[in-house]
Amino acid sequence: MPGYKRACRFCGRLVDEDSVACPFCTRAHPLAPVCPYCVAPIDLAWTVCNSCRKPLTIPCPKCASPVGPDTDACEKCHAVVRYRCPACAVVVVLDAKKCDRCGAKLKEYWKAQAR
Ligand SMILES: [Zn+2]
Ligand SMILES: [Zn+2]
Ligand SMILES: [Zn+2]
Ligand SMILES: [Zn+2]
Repeated sequence: MPGYKRACRFCGRLVDEDSVACPFCTRAHPLAPVCPYCVAPIDLAWTVCNSCRKPLTIPCPKCASPVGPDTDACEKCHAVVRYRCPACAVVVVLDAKKCDRCGAKLKEYWKAQAR
């Protein structure tokens, strides 16, 4: 149904049903929890994705706190643990030239991250 809106599960504001990221709070996949790598639906209690078998909760590289599939930055030390394609919100390798999933070119995205 085009134009149909649902509440973002993070901030509660209404977003388009096909949004890959919330335009208000910028969190990825605002309507339902999905695997950050293969976009299969997940249960937040899982530690590993049932579809691609990648770990959903990974240790922060700086302080080793667990970082779940819904957060891309460590809650303790704010280190960024995952980067996401701005077009499809799938995790991309740092400095990758393009997104493996949707083919979006990422050069400008890395520039905008201003690391
Ligand atoms: Zn939101
Ligand atoms: Zn997966
Ligand atoms: Zn940390
Ligand atoms: Zn992509």
